[in-house]
Amino acid sequence: MTSQESHDPPASLVRCMRQLFAEGLTTGTSGNCSLRLTDAMLITPTGIHPSELTPESMVATDFAGNARGGRFMASSEWPMHASIYRARADVDAIVHCHSRYATALACSRREIPAFHYMVAVAGGDSIRCAPYATFGSVELGRSVTDALRDRSACLMANHGQISVGPDLESALELARRVEELAAQYHACLAIGAPALLTVAEMDEVLEKISGYGQPRRLTA
Ligand code: 13P
Ligand code: ZN
Repeated sequence: MTSQESHDPPASLVRCMRQLFAEGLTTGTSGNCSLRLTDAMLITPTGIHPSELTPESMVATDFAGNARGGRFMASSEWPMHASIYRARADVDAIVHCHSRYATALACSRREIPAFHYMVAVAGGDSIRCAPYATFGSVELGRSVTDALRDRSACLMANHGQISVGPDLESALELARRVEELAAQYHACLAIGAPALLTVAEMDEVLEKISGYGQPRRLTA
């Protein structure tokens, strides 16, 4: 979690949902997000529009779905969030949305292959598409957790996308990038069959991208 997120987790979740809505990555009450707590999570409530969310409406629940007080019911996708937190110690934040192009590809049950080197931002040489399962089901949790192995994002067949990270800010940024890659891949498909990078080319990118950007500044 970023220091802002650990200072005020409920407000950070509200901000994240409002941001998704403002950027056109969600419509209506689609999508949800969560933050890991100790042996539990704080998740958005089910069926509430981003404009009506307040910090008080967030739901703290353990990974078996036992809510710790609060006025609202947890997101219907709590089993999927719980499954990911159980399987992935490296994940402290999850963002799920039905962004347009990611969802269009997911409805064709297509993964995003190595058509562009930036596919590596999700941790590998493809962004998988998790097999279909009903929303809110334990089976969907399993399917998504499996498609996320060695990755920080995947598409969800006939549904949308999910991005994970060490904090909400990074998970949200990854969701934006997945949507942009999905839109670019969609445009490539409209032109014809895009040329894909080889495994060796992507291995080189994966190695290089881990050191991309300015070196982290050391503070005294
Ligand atoms: P919730 O409103 O229950 O979070 O559901 C939205 C959604 O995207 C289900 O997959
Ligand atoms: Zn959904």
